[in-house]
Amino acid sequence: ISEDCCDLNNIIRSIVGLRINELKTMGVRVIIELEPDIPQISIGETLMKQVVVNFIQNAADAIVQSGTGDCISFRTMREDEWVVMEVNDNGPGIKEEHQSRIFDPFFTTKPPGKGTGLGLSITYGIIQRHGGSVWLDTATVGGARFIARLPTAHSSS
Ligand code: ADP
Ligand code: MG
Repeated sequence: ISEDCCDLNNIIRSIVGLRINELKTMGVRVIIELEPDIPQISIGETLMKQVVVNFIQNAADAIVQSGTGDCISFRTMREDEWVVMEVNDNGPGIKEEHQSRIFDPFFTTKPPGKGTGLGLSITYGIIQRHGGSVWLDTATVGGARFIARLPTAHSSS
C-alpha cells in the first residue's frame, strides 16, 4: 500500500474516536455509516485526516455556537471510480449569502480568535490537488451537507 493512499473508513473511525468524548460533553452525537470494502483513496493519510478534522470542527462549532442541532454524520460510499464522503450536520446551516465564499481563504463568520477561515480552503486545496472535488450541497434544508468526491487509488494513474 502506497504512502499516498489511505483507507477513508479507518480515518473517519479514528478521528471520530479521538474526539467522541469531547463531542459527547458538548452534547454532539456522531453517526457513521461507512460502506464496507470501499477502495483506498489516493490522498495521503495525514492530509485526509486534516480534511476530516476540519469537517468535524466546523460542524461542532456550528452546533455549539448556535445552540441549534446535536448531530454530525459521516457517510462513505463507492460511486464508479470514486469514493464519496458526505458530512452532514443538523446545525444552523450556511446563509445563502455566505455559500459562495466559504471555501475562500480567510473567510470566517467566527469571532476573532475562534476561526482562521482557512479550514475549508485547505480542505478544498487538498482534495482538488488530488483530482477530487468537494462542494456544499445547497439543496439541503437546515443544517449543512458537504459532499467530497475522492479519487480511488486506481482511478487516475
Ligand atoms: P473557520 O472554521 O476558521 O471559520 P472554515 O474555512 O473552516 O473557517 O469555514 C469557513 C466558514 O464556513 C465558517 O466560518 C462558517 O461560517 C462556515 N461553515 C463551515 N462549515 C459549517 C457548518 N458545518 N455549519 C455552518 N457553517 C459552516
Ligand atoms: Mg473551520
